[in-house]
Amino acid sequence: MHNATIKSLSAELAARKLSSVELAKHFIKRIKVLNTKYHCFITLDEEASLKQARAADRLRAAGSGQPLTGIPIAQKDIFCTRGWLTTCGSRMLSNFISPYDAHVVERLNAAGAVNIGKTNMDEFAMGSSSETSYYGPVRNPWDVSTVPGGSSGGSAAAVAARLAPGAIGTDTGGSIRQPAALTGICGLKPTYGVVSRYGMVAFASSLDQGGPMARTAEDLALMMNIMAGFDARDSTSLEREREDYTRELGKPIKGMKVGLPKEFFAKGAAPGVVKAVEAAVAEYRKLGCETVGVSLPNMELSVPVYYVLAPAEASSNLARYDGVRYGYRAPEYSDFTDMYKKTRAQGFGAEVKRRILIGTYVLSHGYYDAYYIQAQKVRRLIARDFAEAFKRCDVIMGPTSPTTAFKIGEKAGDPVQMYLSDIYTIAVNLAGLPGMSIPCGFDAKGLPVGLQIIGNYFAEARMLNVAHQYQRATDWHTRAPKGIEVN
Ligand code: GLN
Repeated sequence: MHNATIKSLSAELAARKLSSVELAKHFIKRIKVLNTKYHCFITLDEEASLKQARAADRLRAAGSGQPLTGIPIAQKDIFCTRGWLTTCGSRMLSNFISPYDAHVVERLNAAGAVNIGKTNMDEFAMGSSSETSYYGPVRNPWDVSTVPGGSSGGSAAAVAARLAPGAIGTDTGGSIRQPAALTGICGLKPTYGVVSRYGMVAFASSLDQGGPMARTAEDLALMMNIMAGFDARDSTSLEREREDYTRELGKPIKGMKVGLPKEFFAKGAAPGVVKAVEAAVAEYRKLGCETVGVSLPNMELSVPVYYVLAPAEASSNLARYDGVRYGYRAPEYSDFTDMYKKTRAQGFGAEVKRRILIGTYVLSHGYYDAYYIQAQKVRRLIARDFAEAFKRCDVIMGPTSPTTAFKIGEKAGDPVQMYLSDIYTIAVNLAGLPGMSIPCGFDAKGLPVGLQIIGNYFAEARMLNVAHQYQRATDWHTRAPKGIEVN
């Protein structure tokens, strides 16, 4: 059951060969045994999950099932879920029970999906390893001494360990794609504005985007059909006609032009990563695609630009955690200022504080023009590089991450090394483009490698088919880590 895709589970539920309650119980049992090993989940609520499963069975019985009705979905703990603890991996929100649902959660609920638990993550989604969580690090099911990537590492590890057939995550600079790559699963960051940010705890609002994580491109498409859509409560949500993200699946990709940016293949990526990605590109040539060399000359500036803009936005967004309205408050203090200081000193972890300091600095008088405005200008140049590249190709391919999973603790003391984990993903967020990662092989240590596919604005359906065609021809996406069996 747990090796099945969302698509096939959905067919079994529709044929009434399986009930949603049975399915939920199966995954809950697995989570209970394996969560101590991988630490993917922060909060489980068996009763709440089973209640949704019973409702899903009733919907199916009444003939009103949809593809996700009765499917267990793990939710990154950045999504507000009514009645559930929503911590964002932080002590600051360690007592916050959300009084409302995020738009994405509302839509999943309306489709009859079952929330199987809230997943562990880097604190406020700041990180590339899922080590900065107040609740402790997530472990990569392929090797528990390594990280699963981040910040959506709990969601990624849960899908990889078959603790949920699908999960939702968020991607500000790579947090869906990079953990998907490091755990051997699929993840899609949609075009900015396609998925509502309402009820998604804000990190860097001009970059944050929610998206699906699952084991096949087809499953991502099914999830996107529910997750995407206009929402008036998010001022950057795009008002567009509804799309069927499965509509391109199965179309031939012969003659499609795959752009290979020289900056993605130049230097920096580990040999095992380059080898697997090149083999994937060769597979696309076999499928009839044509490869063209393209260039993204400003890509090397994406990490420095991001680490001005994202902290600037974060410093503003995180100002709301003041100990007054909700969340953590220091237990002892003398006056208001002291309460504020102690609350923030105790409530936030080191990486979050670092970002607030950087963000406040680059926005301060005298530095605003030199850093913030300058970074905004380079952001435009990065978007323009992609626009130029897409004049010559349909999709862009390259590695998702320069390395496979690294050891827990390996980069924790060196923020710059950690920041460079997103060297291939961040430019996509700065440009607002859709990007995805799919598994394309293993390195010499047996750790998964991710292939990144970047498309032009709103090209998600096409990208999903590009990934799907590869998954029809290869079986990397079916490989499971050892040690996930439960008796
Ligand atoms: N690793 C990047 C950061 O730490 C991106 C995180 C994300 O996408 N949420 O900011």
